[in-house]
Amino acid sequence: MRILYVEDEKYLADAVIHVLNKSGISVDHAADGEEGLNLAVKPIYDAIVLDIMLPKLSGWDILRDLRERKIKTPIIMLSALSQTEDKVKGLNYGADDYLAKPFKTSELVARLRALVRRPALQDDKVISFGDIYYDIKNRTLCDLPLSEKEAEIVETLIKNPEQVQSKEYLLTHVWGSDAVDEDNYVEVYISNLRKKLEKVSTNVKIKTIRGLGYKLCSKSLS
Ligand code: CA
Repeated sequence: MRILYVEDEKYLADAVIHVLNKSGISVDHAADGEEGLNLAVKPIYDAIVLDIMLPKLSGWDILRDLRERKIKTPIIMLSALSQTEDKVKGLNYGADDYLAKPFKTSELVARLRALVRRPALQDDKVISFGDIYYDIKNRTLCDLPLSEKEAEIVETLIKNPEQVQSKEYLLTHVWGSDAVDEDNYVEVYISNLRKKLEKVSTNVKIKTIRGLGYKLCSKSLS
């Protein structure tokens, strides 16, 4: 499970992230509302844990913005204000759960597990790797439209990250067995895709493994 945690209180954030990591949950952390929203729009999170009182944009602003954009990632709101009206407001705005501060991290873990288990909220038509995501149905890479062939290459690479795909395999898989002598097709398309990856400024790149083929890797891992 991968979640986004938007929290400006550093000590609280560090402590919670530590426990979540120990529970096998990987956490991306944003320390203010603006950064939080920028990350929250990415369809790479199983859930978002959202503090309400934040610098720049409040948790309410983020929640409302996400739901207006029809982004349905499950959200747990956190707040020191445990008044019923806040809870009602959160749920009305489209939050999935609400946890009053101070809370036990074990309680947060349990709520996250319950939320992510809920069916119908997860859209498995989006595959993510590192900080990029590919929408199979709309053929978009981080919302950037791809041609049919580009899309097939990306889908192959992103479904098998960190694994080398040979040029021959990509060629016959994407263009068919008649294309065996046209191996420059693959080079041309890989080069186009690299340009698109640059546009979305990601840590993910397509690495050439000389004599073997290509693989998708995250810079931090390579
Ligand atoms: Ca706060």
